Amino acid sequence: MSLLKTLRQRTARSRWSFGIVAVVALVIIALAVGGRAGDGDRGSARSASAASRPNGQDAANSDRRTTGTNEPSPSQPVGAETFTAADYARHIATLKKKTPAEGFTVVVEPPFVVIGDESPEMVRRRARDTVKWAVDLLKKSYFKKDPDKILDIWLFKDRESYEKHTQAIFGAKPDTPYGYFSHADGALVMNIATGGGTLVHEIVHPFVASNFPACPSWFNEGLGSLYEQASERNGRIIGLTNWRLAGLQEAIRRGRVPSFKSLCSTTTRQFYDEDRGTNYAQARYLCYYLQEHGLLERFYHRFHRRHKVDPTGYETLVEVLGREDMDAFKKEWEEYVLKLRFE
Ligand SMILES: [Zn+2]
Repeated sequence: MSLLKTLRQRTARSRWSFGIVAVVALVIIALAVGGRAGDGDRGSARSASAASRPNGQDAANSDRRTTGTNEPSPSQPVGAETFTAADYARHIATLKKKTPAEGFTVVVEPPFVVIGDESPEMVRRRARDTVKWAVDLLKKSYFKKDPDKILDIWLFKDRESYEKHTQAIFGAKPDTPYGYFSHADGALVMNIATGGGTLVHEIVHPFVASNFPACPSWFNEGLGSLYEQASERNGRIIGLTNWRLAGLQEAIRRGRVPSFKSLCSTTTRQFYDEDRGTNYAQARYLCYYLQEHGLLERFYHRFHRRHKVDPTGYETLVEVLGREDMDAFKKEWEEYVLKLRFE
């Protein structure tokens, strides 16, 4: 755990050195219920069980940056981002119609609006220390464009609240106890009691959707799940080992992990439906390997550029790894993964 502690401390220091602090409107609203149908990101199952972001919890530093609770002026973009304050004001007016009457805090954290029923202080802290932190760093490494509409992040304080409100607001029971992204509802819906890991995972998906819509599921989920356990190193977001490791190591020992060619060529349906646990873990720890070898950002950008000629990403992977013999690479990667530890 000493590595984690070091990362936490480093992160706590460096977070305050970000140059641009977006003007954030903190709006506290209490309102009435509406309803919409929901669909789910099937990728979120179990992702938060061991995955709260280490630096999401450092309360000691969490209030230093909250000097401004300024209402943005309607004509100016908020934080020089995609949407204006007027856009957020209109969005929040609509949101009022579906937000429960009491106990919810609404925080604008571009390009999202965060709505939660923990204490107002905690909702603001999560908006800043998890949402803003992840958005800033993910954009720095990967994403030029914001999602094409303002998305809501619902942070329900416990399982009871999560199940009750998901049913009331979206008209459907969630199929995961942790959280999911619904493109149709324009919402990330979380049981935040399970930790911030699922939240960072799900934040990746709308950015992939707006920046790399042709991205295959294996890489979309590999990248999302990488950041279920996220920290910061040299000003970049990194994923740490997490709960998915044990199952992958077991599958490796049993010789049950498919080739990377096979992983990359899975269709969305195959990725989600066929041996889903191993697919997620294999994709995650391929991303982890690339990250630890300084190749992950290069892979993302090169794959993004070349996806029309290499839609699965496999050729780009071979090229970025610089390996002719991918069977030999797989053996090395498996040995590497077997040596990793998650405590
Ligand atoms: Zn996912």
